[in-house]
Formats: sequence, structure tokens, C-alpha cells
Amino acid sequence: MSLVPIKDMLEKARAEKYAVPAFDVCNLEFIRAVVEVAEEKLSPVILMVLPHEFDTNLPYLVSMARTAAEQISVPIALHLDHSPSFELCKAAIDAGFSSVMIDGSTLPYEENVKLTRKVVEYAKPKGVSVEAELGHVGKAEANAGEGEDEGYFTDPEDVPRFIEETGVDALAVAIGTAHGIYTREPKLDIQRLAAINRVSSVPLVLHGGSGTPDDQVKEAIANGISKLNIFSELCVALVDGLKDFMANNQQRAPLPSHVFEKSITLMKDVVRCKIDLCGSAGKGHRA
Ligand SMILES: [Zn+2]
Repeated sequence: MSLVPIKDMLEKARAEKYAVPAFDVCNLEFIRAVVEVAEEKLSPVILMVLPHEFDTNLPYLVSMARTAAEQISVPIALHLDHSPSFELCKAAIDAGFSSVMIDGSTLPYEENVKLTRKVVEYAKPKGVSVEAELGHVGKAEANAGEGEDEGYFTDPEDVPRFIEETGVDALAVAIGTAHGIYTREPKLDIQRLAAINRVSSVPLVLHGGSGTPDDQVKEAIANGISKLNIFSELCVALVDGLKDFMANNQQRAPLPSHVFEKSITLMKDVVRCKIDLCGSAGKGHRA
């Protein structure tokens, strides 16, 4: 199966009230952990790539994602995460990505609309889905509590106009999560999310999924979240696995496949938990 756009994947999830888990991937070990568990649990899954990978890893990541999609039975999307520019979105689309996120969330509203619409106009004729962000999801570490600042939260009143003016397929919302490792427990504004969901004609996306308590994620999915983004928890699993290996092996030249074994096991545990949390297991059946 070729890589699929997120539009259909997320619309099905929205209709059936589950979320599709989306993981930022950096190398073969990340991709293996995600797709092998996706196949095991028959879950659709989204492989995301962050902009910093573009200068080095991009062609390899695209090839690995394509190979994964051909080898397993569940739908897989390859998605550009947090692109700051039209040019990067275009490069991803031209390289074979099936969806992109254009992040104009720090721009004034009109500029966010303009930038997002430009990406949509390039992507849509090619069958590529576009996610945009309205409001702004901050960083947990850089400024503790930034995610709690309601000044950045998505205003439900802006949502219908933004979707109509841009033509996006999915919308990332700011409702109290943050990127990175939380320094204190987030408190999601579920009422706001429900209000956004009532007026949104497209599926909604929750960024900063790592470390958000399960009960709050479940409530968010029940109130309209159709895509859950995860990165930091995979990074923690990778590093914990490497530390475990280093503590238990003294060889100077171990087989590299052994070095990553524990990391892959721990990353797979994260992926399994997130698929269960999202309720996406068994939803990746081919029609
Ligand atoms: Zn994000």
C-alpha cells in the first residue's frame, strides 16, 4: 500500500470517535518501533518528520516510510510536522510526503491564513492533506507553564472562518498542552475543545501529547481530537534503552543491532500504550 493522506484517515477517526496516533520519527529504529506495533495492533498510524531532519535524513526517511507502507497492511501516512514555510512544505510534497503541517501559529491571523492557503493551493491538486494551527501550542521546558497561557488558546469564534479561508484538512488547537517534557501537569480546557469541535468542519489535532495524563487525553478524544502527536516519550524511551545497554555491556565494539534492542522494546511499549489510549487498535483494516 502506498502512503495515504491524513484527510480520510482522520475523517474516519472523527466519525468513529477515536484518534490516530502520530509519532515524530528520526531514524530506522523509530520507524520500526512504530510500524511493527501498528501492524501488530492493526492500527492506522502517522509517521511525522520534523523540519530539522531535512538537511540530513530526508531522502532516507522517505524511502524507509515507503518501504514500511509497502510491507505492512495498515494505512500509514508520512507527514511533515511544524513546517515554518511554504518552501519546506513544497519540498516535502515533492519528495513524496502524503501530508504536511504548515505552522503559522505565531503569525498574526491574516498572515497565518495567507501562508496556510498558499500551502493548501499547492498540496490539494496533488492529493496531499494539510494541517494548520490556530492559537499557539508552546514549549513546556522553555517557559514552564506557557501551555497554560490562555492568551495563546484557540478561539472557537475564529475556527469556521479560518477553515473556510484556508481550505485546510485538519486543525491543530491550543487548549492547554505544550511541547516537550512537562514541568507540571497540564490542565486541558475541554469545554473550549468541545466548543471548537461543534463549529469545526475538519478533524482536530492535539500537539504535546507526550506526558499529558491519559484521562485528559481520553476526554479530549471524546470531545473531538482525531490525531494525537507524540515525540518526547519516544525520545525518553530511546535514551533509557541506551542507558540500560551501556550499564550492562562492557564490550568496546558491540553489534549495533544489540545496542538498540532495548530502546526499540521500550519505544514499542510507548507506541502500544498510545494506540490503546487513542482507541485506534483494529481500525486499520483494509476495506
Ligand atoms: Zn507539535
